[in-house]
Amino acid sequence: MKACFAFVRRLAMILFAAFAAHPSTLSADKHPNIVFIFSDDHAVQAISAYGSKINQTPNIDRLAKEGSVFVNSFCANSICGPSRACILTGKHSHINGFLRNGERFDGSQMTFPKLLQGAGYETALVGKWHLSSTPTGFNYWEVLPGQGNYFNPDFLQMGGTRKRYTGYCTDIVTDRALKWLDEDRDKSKPFILMCQHKAPHRNWSPALRHLSMFDGVDVPEPDSLFDDYSGRTHLLKENKMSIKSHFHWGHDAKLHGDPQFPEHFQRLRNREYQRMNAEQRAAWDKQYEPENQAFLEKMKAGELSEKEITRWKYQRYIKDYLRTVAAVDEGVGRVLDYLDANGLAENTIVIYSSDQGFYLGEHGWYDKRWMFEESLKMPFLIRWPGVITPGTESTALIQNIDYAPTFLEAAGVPIPEDIQGRSLIPVFKNNSRATSDCRDAIYYAYYENAAAHEVPIHDGIRTQQHKLMFFPRGRQWQLFDLVKDPQEMRSVHAESEYQPILRALQQRYRDLRKFYAVNSATIPMTRGDEDWWQKRNQLANEKAKAGGFDLAFIGDSITQGWEGKGKAVWKQFYEDRKPINLGFSGDRTEHVIWRLTRGNLSNVKPKVAVMMIGTNNTGHHLQAPNEVAAGVGSILEILQERTPDTKILLLGIFPRGKDSFDEKRLNNIAINQHIRRFHDGERVHYLDIGDAFLETDGTLSREIMPDYLHLSEEGYAQWAQAIEPKLVELGL
Ligand code: CA
Repeated sequence: MKACFAFVRRLAMILFAAFAAHPSTLSADKHPNIVFIFSDDHAVQAISAYGSKINQTPNIDRLAKEGSVFVNSFCANSICGPSRACILTGKHSHINGFLRNGERFDGSQMTFPKLLQGAGYETALVGKWHLSSTPTGFNYWEVLPGQGNYFNPDFLQMGGTRKRYTGYCTDIVTDRALKWLDEDRDKSKPFILMCQHKAPHRNWSPALRHLSMFDGVDVPEPDSLFDDYSGRTHLLKENKMSIKSHFHWGHDAKLHGDPQFPEHFQRLRNREYQRMNAEQRAAWDKQYEPENQAFLEKMKAGELSEKEITRWKYQRYIKDYLRTVAAVDEGVGRVLDYLDANGLAENTIVIYSSDQGFYLGEHGWYDKRWMFEESLKMPFLIRWPGVITPGTESTALIQNIDYAPTFLEAAGVPIPEDIQGRSLIPVFKNNSRATSDCRDAIYYAYYENAAAHEVPIHDGIRTQQHKLMFFPRGRQWQLFDLVKDPQEMRSVHAESEYQPILRALQQRYRDLRKFYAVNSATIPMTRGDEDWWQKRNQLANEKAKAGGFDLAFIGDSITQGWEGKGKAVWKQFYEDRKPINLGFSGDRTEHVIWRLTRGNLSNVKPKVAVMMIGTNNTGHHLQAPNEVAAGVGSILEILQERTPDTKILLLGIFPRGKDSFDEKRLNNIAINQHIRRFHDGERVHYLDIGDAFLETDGTLSREIMPDYLHLSEEGYAQWAQAIEPKLVELGL
């Protein structure tokens, strides 16, 4: 049956290829157009269709009235670039390769715009892109460089030039999108237009016409503005995204001049103000300066308590944020009006979404990243006349990886088998109600631990009622009951009545990770949030830059130990052979992958690399041996790519634990069973020297391994002697 299905699928792909070669067969009146209006950091708490208590968005609300609003819509990785990559590919970050902001999207991979274009759609992208590489799969694009600017923004052009427009970014994105719709597209074909705003991203600079919105009004504060982070992981307290402590003088607070009151304000200036022309600055100052001066007078007089200062910052922040949302909402209205006026509304799917949510003071924060509701949620409102029942609300658990297959199915284009998301069309056709076939839980993962705001790596799942999070640092679980505790103020993972739920969710978490092929051992991961590691890594990168090495040791603490217990042996065996030690205590395969691809190998092209890694994958997680072996395989590929002439002496992971029944030792043995197959006798030479450390009865002695894991000086001597003949054979 399965084979038969695969055959039909192949046949469909062949027919599709033939079909795609004659795109003129698509007609604009039979295939729906798609207008995807997308903003940046727009939280559902600031959309009235989602019940906002702080603003009105009448134009976005039109989509809810005339279509459907999805209240359980989530991102897969709550940060700008990764969310966009998930949308384009329909795949989670670890598969599409864009894990963190600042990386470069591999535009050669399959994306839904490419598939739609191949099927005869006209495809266009206007506005924020933020994926570093040049957009692919679009007949027309005009994008902001990086984050882009609110005032007088530059746009990258298809020819490679830049063009500066005078005015306000949100309005210009809409202008350019409507111009393409009206003048530049091939009107005989169906189209997809991605109209992607910068707003309401930080630094929340409003349009001049909205500066006085909310004048004389106090926007309500969220209940958790003064969250003390008790009752949850201690990692929360390490955050650097609070309105109280991490708000910048010019950038966030829009105060002029040199930063003052350093205990209350950080130092970044307002670069948007610097871009404004004289007329724009005059209007800006007219609004802000009286308020600013009144605040500064009170500050100088010492009249404000710390809480009052935080409250002032919150008002400044939230009003600016909501003002930028007002311009986005107007832009949505202009697009809808254009579709109405040009007879396009009936055959055009219109979506409003944003790359992820945002904290509007909840937990004391601005920004996103954490897997709590406010930043995990994405707005998703959709109008599709004739398919979606107007005025419906959906509680189906949907995710940004679902957009690509949905658009493809809507356009009648086959969905590639490797797409991880699911088409939402069965839900649309079911009056927006979740079908029994819908997913029970979404998977989420955040990877950018060593960048802004000090948010640790974590992942987890969310069901209709619960949320389970896992923080690898410290191996901590968090469990939230979203019905009893919708604001997520108390983790119940340790409470006895929740143990059956915890175990069930942990099972689903493990199953979902397998289903989505999440293998942590192969996903590059930094430990840059640990100071000692960061320093050692910087030092290694500096050494690597200098080059001139014949011998490299790559591994974890057992390799790093050449600088400790193994120092004298190292001196005797290796000091004169131009060595570099790339062993980092506690590292797993994923950390080695990170280091070797980000500086540790820059000018390191040794004759021989001795590598032993993987026991920490076993040590902390008891990760499946085949997964750890895949991590070792990834490192071998990296070495092949970056230093192809190096001979690699791949060592079987040393035995650990007192006797041969030790669970972790057995896992090492199982890993070795896999990795010995990497031996090719040419470039990779596998060697298991475990016997050098074992007593005749298979036990480990404290003389060789005092803690049954790390070597003594005698142990290092055994290691050096055991590999010496091989090093010589490999030309060292
Ligand atoms: Ca964003």
